[in-house]
Amino acid sequence: MCGIFGVFNSEHAEKYAFYGIYALQHRGQESVGIAASDFERVRCIKKPGLVLESIKGEDLQNVRGYSAIAHVRYSTAGDPGAVNAQPIVKEISLGTCAVVHNGNLVNYPQIRAELQREGVSLEYSSDTELFISLLDRGELYPKGVDLHPLDRGILPKVFYALSKVRGAYSLIYLFRESMVVARDPMGFRPLLMGRLRDTLLFASESCAFDILSAELWREVKPGEVLVVDKHGIRSYFPFTHERRAFCIFELVYFSKPESFIFGSWVYNVRKRMGELLAIEDSVEVDVVVPVPDSGLVPAIGYAQVKGLPLELGLIRNHYVGRSFIQPTQELRDIKVLMKFNPNRAVLEGKRVLVIDDSLVRGTTSKKIVSMLRRAGAREVHMRIASPPVIGPCYYGIDTPTREELIANRMDIEDIRKFIGADSLVYLSLESLRSTVESPQEYCDACFSNCYPISVEGRALRMF
Ligand code: SF4
Repeated sequence: MCGIFGVFNSEHAEKYAFYGIYALQHRGQESVGIAASDFERVRCIKKPGLVLESIKGEDLQNVRGYSAIAHVRYSTAGDPGAVNAQPIVKEISLGTCAVVHNGNLVNYPQIRAELQREGVSLEYSSDTELFISLLDRGELYPKGVDLHPLDRGILPKVFYALSKVRGAYSLIYLFRESMVVARDPMGFRPLLMGRLRDTLLFASESCAFDILSAELWREVKPGEVLVVDKHGIRSYFPFTHERRAFCIFELVYFSKPESFIFGSWVYNVRKRMGELLAIEDSVEVDVVVPVPDSGLVPAIGYAQVKGLPLELGLIRNHYVGRSFIQPTQELRDIKVLMKFNPNRAVLEGKRVLVIDDSLVRGTTSKKIVSMLRRAGAREVHMRIASPPVIGPCYYGIDTPTREELIANRMDIEDIRKFIGADSLVYLSLESLRSTVESPQEYCDACFSNCYPISVEGRALRMF
């Protein structure tokens, strides 16, 4: 769970990077960083916290450049502290190299140990560092790949580094005069290209192009490696085609509804989830209430199919950051109360159907149900626009451990009792799969327990 952004060929690449990464803030709130090159040197700033609060005008003055990369972090591997903030910058044989990465490497511990055995010093506890540290460890010339003469210095090293890692990566390397962009062959995480006149942009989601009034060009394809420099763009496919594994959770929850990823508009897919939930459901209610913000789009789909009013029965407080004071045991409900406030005007005396995108631990749903009842709801029916979450993610989404997932410990009736709802219905796995064009190209392991890549030391059921 991270957001990445890249800019090439702009008078003020650092400013574009600032706005682009701001539009991806929902993908990570722990830290932000921007590295830029003026084609003479690569400079970097990294700060803990949110983009707008952390990066000041003078910070951007210090990283002026014609090309830039940026990152917002939500840690899934390594220490969540500022030390692992990205971009990670290192001096290597190719000069200064900075990298930003979204994803998670399943063989990180093995490669880290291998590099340490070889005497390579690693400064961070995040898997992203490997992408740079491996550059100086070897070269790979894949069969059938015709390298442009300009790429013979950097690319064999990049191909070697990418051939060593297993897992999910959408990443951008920034060198002094060029940029290398790559997406893993299974395509777990999204990565898109945009254009604004002569400036080339890369982003985790298309919503980052909108803020710059830039045009969405195309997706970086799974397994594609792109080199961008003043001579143009060159595309390579160094690895054999693998089964795709686009993360379906990006469509359920993580990406913004106005984004285009994996060949679809998130809004349309998410709305379809709500429509299918309605088609599968027979409960009689007076009003549909979304859990904001992620329940909103499926709730629209649900309400439209049923011909029911959609009302804002829960109002979200948008000023709650991630870093508020942890509540004491007595005030354990305060987190949810700080985030949502029930709206009595639409709840009192009503049979309420409340929709959320997913149900993971069950603790938030329990608090929401009791909040709705306290505000006068006569009945509370909980609907979840995705199937029960039964498996953790090893590919870059921060889900809890298997033991913490409520659907692993309880059946649906027990979960209903636990959250205190009058009824509980999830979207079926079959229906979730039917919301995308080619379900066989998706990873849905957290809902199906069928994993696309094995993880050392874990007995996983594979595709
Ligand atoms: S396990 Fe779930 S969250 Fe992780 S990549 Fe697969 S679908 Fe996405």
